[in-house]
Amino acid sequence: MRITFLGTGTAHGVPFIACTCAVCTSKDPRNKRMRSSVYVEYDGRGVLIDATPDLRTQALAYGIQRVDAILLTHSHADHIHGLDDVRIFNFVQKATIPLYGSKPVLKDVKTRFSYFFKKQPGWKPQVELKEVNGYFDLFGKTVKPVVVNHGSQPILGYRIDDFAYLTDCKSLPQESKHKLQGLDILVLNALRRKEHDTHLSLDEAIALIEELCPRRAFITHMSHDFDHEALCKELPAYIRPAYDGLVL
Ligand SMILES: [Zn+2]
Ligand SMILES: [Zn+2]
Ligand SMILES: [Zn+2]
Repeated sequence: MRITFLGTGTAHGVPFIACTCAVCTSKDPRNKRMRSSVYVEYDGRGVLIDATPDLRTQALAYGIQRVDAILLTHSHADHIHGLDDVRIFNFVQKATIPLYGSKPVLKDVKTRFSYFFKKQPGWKPQVELKEVNGYFDLFGKTVKPVVVNHGSQPILGYRIDDFAYLTDCKSLPQESKHKLQGLDILVLNALRRKEHDTHLSLDEAIALIEELCPRRAFITHMSHDFDHEALCKELPAYIRPAYDGLVL
C-alpha cells in the first residue's frame, strides 16, 4: 500500500491569507500546506480520503491518474468542497465513482452539491453514494470506519490494514481506541499549540499517539503554529510531521 499526503494543512491552508508570520512567509516547501487529504493506492486502485478545495492542484502536483473511490471523514468545507473536480476522473475512467460517508455526510453532499443529482444536461460529477454503516470491502481490502469526536460531533476516520487516517479529532471513544491497536502507521491531526474546542492540540495529539502505540505516527491538519524543521526536532523519532507530497 502506498500513501501520499496531498495536503496537511488546516481549513485555511498554510500560508494563511494575509499572514506575514515566519511560517507563512517561510521558504521551506514543507511549510506550504494545502487542505488535508491522502491518496491511498493498492492493487492498481486509487482511493481518495476527503476531497479538499485544493483537489485539482493536488492531483496535478502529485500526478494522480485515477480515483476509484472516495472516503469522506465529514462534511466541513475543507474536506469536501473539491468534489466538483471529480468529474474529470469520471471522464477519464468512463465510470461512476463510489463515494463513502456517514448518513449525515451524504445528506450534506446531496444538499451542497444538489446539481450532481439533477437530471439536466451538462457535465457533472457522477458519484454513487455509499452509506458507511460498519466494515466494508473496498477492492479486496476491509475498510474499518472509526468514530472520531470532532468536538461534540461524531465523524469518521478509516483504518485499512495497519494504516489509519484520523483527522479533525478532538478525542476518541473507547471503542475506537480498541479498533486502533497494532497500527503500523497512524495519521492524526494536531491543529496548533493552544487547546481548541474541536481539534487536538499538539500536546493532546502526542498523548493520544502514546496511548495508541502505533509503530509510526504522522501529524496532519496543521496551522501556521508549526515550522516543519522545528517540529521535527521537537517530536520523538517515531512521530513525524507530515508534509504535502510525503509518500509512505
Ligand atoms: Zn478540517
Ligand atoms: Zn501565518
Ligand atoms: Zn472539520
